[in-house]
This record gives sequence, structure tokens and C-alpha cells, in this order.
Amino acid sequence: MPLDRRRFLRLGSTGALAAAVPSWTRAAGILVPPASPVVLSTWDHGLAANRKAWQVLSDGGNVLDAVVEGVAVVENDLGNRTVGQGGRPDRDGHVTLDACVQDHDGRAGSVAFVEHFPNPVRIARAVMERTPHVMLVGEGAERWARENGFAERRITLPGVQAEWKEWTVQKAYQPVVNIENHDTIGQLAVDARGRLAGSCTTSGMAYKVHGRVGDSPIIGAGLFVDGEVGAACATGTGELVIRIAGSHTVVEMMRQGVEPTEACRQAVERIVRRHRDLDRHQVGFLALRADGAFGAFSLRQGFTFAVSDAAGHRLLASEHMG
Ligand code: ASP
Repeated sequence: MPLDRRRFLRLGSTGALAAAVPSWTRAAGILVPPASPVVLSTWDHGLAANRKAWQVLSDGGNVLDAVVEGVAVVENDLGNRTVGQGGRPDRDGHVTLDACVQDHDGRAGSVAFVEHFPNPVRIARAVMERTPHVMLVGEGAERWARENGFAERRITLPGVQAEWKEWTVQKAYQPVVNIENHDTIGQLAVDARGRLAGSCTTSGMAYKVHGRVGDSPIIGAGLFVDGEVGAACATGTGELVIRIAGSHTVVEMMRQGVEPTEACRQAVERIVRRHRDLDRHQVGFLALRADGAFGAFSLRQGFTFAVSDAAGHRLLASEHMG
């Protein structure tokens, strides 16, 4: 019997503690996989990513294939200003990308501060599968990617450059995240066998300091997957998320029996308790429990997420603080 099952059974049989353990653990000692897959993604662009992930699963691909190829659709959309090479640059004019993946067994791969590659999420997966490491950054990550068959793509998008040039006139640098300049995509999925995986990819905060890396490629901050419990991902001001190890916090709360939406809410609340001026910030968490239950919660209104399950594909708005 796996360690966790023993632990759940023990907790489930000890009076007061049993109340804190969710029904699925009390009933069976293990969690029951959903009857059909459940895929979640952050923001409106999550719908396209979900459709792709769903198709990958329907075609017999595994859940890791699904979350990698799902978010790659958004990376490939050069009209997207917050993910992939269409993203807004840093304050020096460089579009630098961060991405990570984690699978059911907790294996993880990540790249940060990479330029000139269309699909950092695929490189992150390769780091996981082909190296003994979890995270490669900057020049080293780029060299490793080239040496491992990833083709560089150098592109300049005149509209994005013009916007950046305009910004340099004032250089009113504020690490402000609002609905216009963020929208990382995080994707979480569980298949009908109960296998989980997650991915996260972003161009990060617009006009960030060159070299800045946010939460998105950091396992435990922008993404965390634990096959025994569930998965979570984050979007919004990465610094706020990193400080509380946000996604890991959400998953650990689910492990203790907290429902997914409530786990996301408590993570946001923890951020709120620690900061005074959050007026210009947004943070959103998305959580998927291994039995397919899911939830989301954000600091402020406007955080949407895509859900795909037996009922189809749809966009929902998260609950949020007042
Ligand atoms: N979390 C991302 C970052 O801080 C930005 C975002 O989600 O909008 O880089």
C-alpha cells in the first residue's frame, strides 16, 4: 500500500482529524480518477490550449503530451502579447521567455530567460526528459536547446517594437501587472486513469528588468503537480506568488482536505495579509484535484479560466476577493 494511502486511512479513522480529510480519501483511502479527463487553463487563451490538449488525449496521447502541446498553441500565436515570441519585451527590448512542466510522478523541467525559441515549453520538457537537471537558464539553456535539436527563430514584430519604443520615452518603469500586460498560460490536466500533468509558459511581465524571472518557470511557484493529490498553477505578479511558493501551497492545502477553490482563496489571502499596496496587482490560482474537482480564485475580478471535461469546453470567471 502506498505511503499516502496508509496515511489517509490513518487520518480517516481518527475522529477529529477525519473531518479535515476530504470525502474521497475517507471513502476509499485513495482518490478515484474522474470518469473522463479534465483540462484547465488560465485566461481566455486557455480555450484554444484546452481544445488542443483534449485532441491530444482523444488521439491517444498521454497527459504530458496534452499539456505541452496545449500551451504550445498559445506560444505559437504571435498575436499573443504575454506568451511566446509575440510577447512584450523587457525594458531593454528583449523578449525573454520562461516555461516549465511537471508530470504525475513529480518529474520536472524548466527553462528561464531564453530568447529566440518559439516553444520554451517543449525545451522545458526536454530538460526534464533528457538531463539530470530541473532548470536551465539564459545562455546555457539556449546553447543546450540548440545542441538538442531545437531550432532558433529570430523575429521582430514591428508593432510590439513600436510600443516598446514609445515606452522607452518615459521609461516609467513600474512592475505593474494588470489585465493588459500579463496573461501567462498555465495548464493542468488529469486523464481518465488519474494521471496528472501541468505546464506553464510566459513572456513574463512587460518591460521587466532584463534578467528578471517570475514565478512561471519555478516549480512550486508558477506550477506544482503531485500525482497523489492534484495540481495548481498561478498567474499574475510573479513576485507575489514566489514569496508564498503559491502553487505548492495550494496543492498542500488540498492534501490536507481543503477544497480546490478554497485552497486557491487561502493562498490569495496569504498574499493579501503580507502586502499593503496591492491595488495595481493581480494574482490568480487554478487548482485541479486528482479526482477531477477543480477551482480558481483571484485577487481581483477579471481572472478567467478554461475548463474542458465531459460537458465540453467553456470559459469561467474565477471567484475573487472583494
Ligand atoms: N506570472 C507571470 C510573471 O510574473 C506574469 C503573468 O502571469 O502575467 O512573469
